[in-house]
Amino acid sequence: MNERLLDVRSLRTNFLTGGGIVNAVRGINFHVDKGEFLGVAGESGCGKSVTMLSIMRLLPDTARVQSQGILFDGVDLQTQKMKYMRSIQGNKIGMIFQDPMTCLNPLYTIGNQLMEPLQIHKKLSRKEARKRAAEMLDLVGISNPERRLRQYPHEFSGGMRQRAMIAMAMSCDPKLLIADEPTTALDVTIQAQILDLMKNLKQKFDTSTALITHDLGVIASVCTRVIIMYGGLIMEQGYVEDIFYRPAHPYTIGLLKSVPSAGERTQEQLTPIPGTPPDLMNPPPGCPFAARCSVAMKICALAQPELHEVGDNHAAACWLNHPKASHMKGRLEV
Ligand code: SF4
Repeated sequence: MNERLLDVRSLRTNFLTGGGIVNAVRGINFHVDKGEFLGVAGESGCGKSVTMLSIMRLLPDTARVQSQGILFDGVDLQTQKMKYMRSIQGNKIGMIFQDPMTCLNPLYTIGNQLMEPLQIHKKLSRKEARKRAAEMLDLVGISNPERRLRQYPHEFSGGMRQRAMIAMAMSCDPKLLIADEPTTALDVTIQAQILDLMKNLKQKFDTSTALITHDLGVIASVCTRVIIMYGGLIMEQGYVEDIFYRPAHPYTIGLLKSVPSAGERTQEQLTPIPGTPPDLMNPPPGCPFAARCSVAMKICALAQPELHEVGDNHAAACWLNHPKASHMKGRLEV
């Protein structure tokens, strides 16, 4: 049996705003196994980034996070003080964000920024930290690492800045790496290089990775398991092959139809999902996808479906997959 590294139970995150309470994450359960490459996918505003920031406790004061446990490496993070959280941020849990410029300080050299977590968390001397920082730059494919350590972020290209961020996130040998849209701001060629780099580093260090993205192509190329989120809830979860070849939720099917598939680009008809995501200030009582779902039934607007098993480690939150609705199977057109 796979060993759990992160186990999140009934996570809810609300934001208090001037207009009311935004129910950004509405009671989700998920886990990341040791050595696993998990993808978290969904449209903007579905709650995927808020989920990870809630776990890391990196949300503003207007956020209210509740759960029945956020177990990471045997410790319930929900009950820990901020001091403990700071000791694992950038240490046991590394993070990579979409825009490295928002994380890299333009006033400090890349070397200083790479060395700082090593000196704080690993208690390395300045000389040892500099040596390790150069090794990390070399590892992520940045040539002339000694010279690059003396440079500032603006002297790096977009792809090199993202490589430097990855070097920084991996430098303390984290148990979990959270990557939030790490390739979205990059052009396609650099995207592929960064994904290859993440795959290679994952193999080399066996770090568990949670990759947040709206891009199913990115999920297909690196992840082993995937969670599909919508309206602050998990709609479907399973191994990548099941999600891509045997999707069981109408939202997943809609997502797959709205992106080009490799090798069929010339004649392929893409179908966008009509409508807009639900208002999370006033979420619907039933299935959050009901207003956009072409196979919605009466019950869908009334009650929220639970995640039902549809296969081995494959579950979908749709009334069509309820055990008592077996006669409905086959209504979904993949
Ligand atoms: Fe569509 Fe109903 Fe399934 Fe929601 S529960 S995805 S509305 S069929």
